[in-house]
Amino acid sequence: MRWPLSAFAAILVAVVACTHAGTVSASSGAPHYEVFAIRYATIERFPTSGLIAGADTSRRQDIAMMVWLARVPGGRNVLMDAGFYRDKFVNRWKPKDYERPSLAIARVGLKPEDVTDIIVSHIHWDHLDGADLFPRARMWIQRDEYEHYIDSAGRARSTTIDSADATMLATLARAGRVQLIAGDSVEILPGIRVYTGGKHTFASQFATVETDAGAVVLASDNAYLYENLERHRPIAQTLDSLSNLRAQERMGRLAGAPRLIVPGHDPAVFTRFPLPGSGVARIR
Ligand SMILES: [Zn+2]
Repeated sequence: MRWPLSAFAAILVAVVACTHAGTVSASSGAPHYEVFAIRYATIERFPTSGLIAGADTSRRQDIAMMVWLARVPGGRNVLMDAGFYRDKFVNRWKPKDYERPSLAIARVGLKPEDVTDIIVSHIHWDHLDGADLFPRARMWIQRDEYEHYIDSAGRARSTTIDSADATMLATLARAGRVQLIAGDSVEILPGIRVYTGGKHTFASQFATVETDAGAVVLASDNAYLYENLERHRPIAQTLDSLSNLRAQERMGRLAGAPRLIVPGHDPAVFTRFPLPGSGVARIR
């Protein structure tokens, strides 16, 4: 079933024109989004050495499990990543304060069917698994990421992707709900652009989102913690440490301000941006 994916990719850029409410930038005409981090769980006492290359192996810290929302009031509701919900993950990782990502978005007034798009930063279980909780969303994933990890029959090519998640994403692709992105620096939606090079997985991506405060960078796991960014340390789980560092440097050039780079698992997101609260941070 290779052909449908190719067909979807071919119409990749053609489908993005649409109207938007909300602020519009004078230069590009692209909408300005509101960006939120939404915390749906905590995993306690995670080894820091699994996040930051070379970290002291005795260090442990709680990590935040998040999805990120970019929305234009009256327009699109775009998630970066979808979290997890299948029992096997919940049972294995025993997250604290867990709430299904599809329910956690009620804290910003959304229902699952309100989500129009999901940018899949990479295929790890804690970012991809929840994709099928959002019945109307279109998935945006790098073609190289998809084809590296999922075969033409919809099976996992490696243990990096969970087999159930591979089947789920392939099923969404057959239903016409997956857009494969052709590489680096692609504006997938007006005001939202994705970038490769972070090398957390084969073709992991991060995104910039235009806001009134300037471009927000949603790093996902291409930078796990503020410590990666601020101490210039590659992530511990990367296929290419140098490429990861270059990607983090690039995030710094792309962001409207250093504070607008949002790392993938740092609980400090919710103290640096304490409002509106209840596990929701408005990035600005
Ligand atoms: Zn993660």
